[in-house]
Amino acid sequence: MADPTSVLIELRHVSHEYAAGSGQERTLVLDDINLTVSENDVIALLGPSGCGKSTLIRIMAGLVTPTRGEVFWRGEPLCGVSPGVAMVFQNFALFPWLTVRQNVLLSVGHLPPEEQQARLEKALATVGLGAYEHSHPRELSGGMKQRVGIARALIAEPAVLCMDEPFSALDVLTAETLRNEIGRLIADSNHPLRTMVMVTHSVVEAVFFATRIVVLAAHPGCVEAVLPVALPYPRDTEAPEFRAIVANLHARLTRSHLPDVAGDPSKVVTKVDEKRRHIAPVSLPYVTPGEVLGLLSLLGENDRDVFELAERLGKEFVAVVSVLKAAELLGLVETPGQDVRMTALGRVLTGATTPDQRRLIREQLLKLKIFELLTRLIRVQENQVLAEEDLLHELQIALPHEKPRPLFRTLLSWGRYAELISYDQRKRSIKLYEGRRRAAAIAAPVPSDNKGGANP
Ligand code: ADP
Repeated sequence: MADPTSVLIELRHVSHEYAAGSGQERTLVLDDINLTVSENDVIALLGPSGCGKSTLIRIMAGLVTPTRGEVFWRGEPLCGVSPGVAMVFQNFALFPWLTVRQNVLLSVGHLPPEEQQARLEKALATVGLGAYEHSHPRELSGGMKQRVGIARALIAEPAVLCMDEPFSALDVLTAETLRNEIGRLIADSNHPLRTMVMVTHSVVEAVFFATRIVVLAAHPGCVEAVLPVALPYPRDTEAPEFRAIVANLHARLTRSHLPDVAGDPSKVVTKVDEKRRHIAPVSLPYVTPGEVLGLLSLLGENDRDVFELAERLGKEFVAVVSVLKAAELLGLVETPGQDVRMTALGRVLTGATTPDQRRLIREQLLKLKIFELLTRLIRVQENQVLAEEDLLHELQIALPHEKPRPLFRTLLSWGRYAELISYDQRKRSIKLYEGRRRAAAIAAPVPSDNKGGANP
């Protein structure tokens, strides 16, 4: 139990809604979050895309005011931007017309000039940018820009450093270097940085930094689990204890984030799953046909562990889970427990010619409610041509918790691959692929049997 005097941030029954589209409708993105951040906590917010991690960290920093619930800073209700929190953003958020020096000094303009100078030198030295004080952001690489972002946060000497996916816009090597440097700062007892909250979608990153990992579930975003990590700093990602925690977390996330197969006793259906099932119509994860086909060819005849697949694909676990979800919705793989296994249909597909692959995928897509909606919307148009804007609007209504643009792009990539729809970029409109109007018309009713994967 945290010493109450050391509690910095406290969220009590925090919920947040965003306006959905142009109407009065609102989407609940965070539901009843209770969380405290105490001194020396390093908290990783981990969860699928869209579960509200960025919104949550912004609420902690006072950049977003929740629509319900209370936020406290050192026991006092927080009003506006938090006085003790500094934020590092994924896309750096630097002013391009200001130099490194000017960007970094932004948050300490109220201090005397000598104090500003002393802090500036210290912050730039910490991130290794001493020689770039007078450069502009355009002269810097992505990694250097993020160093500026970190220096700008550190110069304020915040009680809590909040970072929203700080490494995800960087290439792998740069991300790893920066990650290790921040890791060293936390491990350095002489450095004042003790308390941190970070958003990540990387399990390894969460275990590398966190004293507590807050696992969030989506639709609406809520806390699924809070997992303490007791490893001492600095942490070695290759150490057996580290790998054991990562594997454990992977197993847990696999259980809760992969869709359940009816009657599969090895799947744990959590309360959150139940809640989500009632609220959300099933969409298609934002992955491309190429990603699913790539996964199938890697899978081959062998059953594989999700964790092992992620390593072999060189992808983040959460990203692989999305590809698996899409493959499972299409009936191409099964995921009993933590294993991944090709279905009979998956095997047929991998051995088929490209036209047959397109046909098989087309048949599977037409079983999904989201494609049923899409083809129906096209058919009811006067010229059987659906404007992109109209589809985006319909998607927003049918699936209010989804991001309409990425969902639209996903539907387009699958529909075009399967020769089900075609897209006119100039007119920004969609119609049924020539010769498929009949197929779609025939396939409109969704088959009731569940063979080969179908959408609930
Ligand atoms: P995450 O960081 O987990 O990906 P976000 O907090 O960015 O999640 O977003 C959660 C949900 O809220 C998403 O569906 C997103 O589309 C929506 N959302 C985020 N910001 C806004 C906004 N300013 N207005 C409307 N909806 C938003």
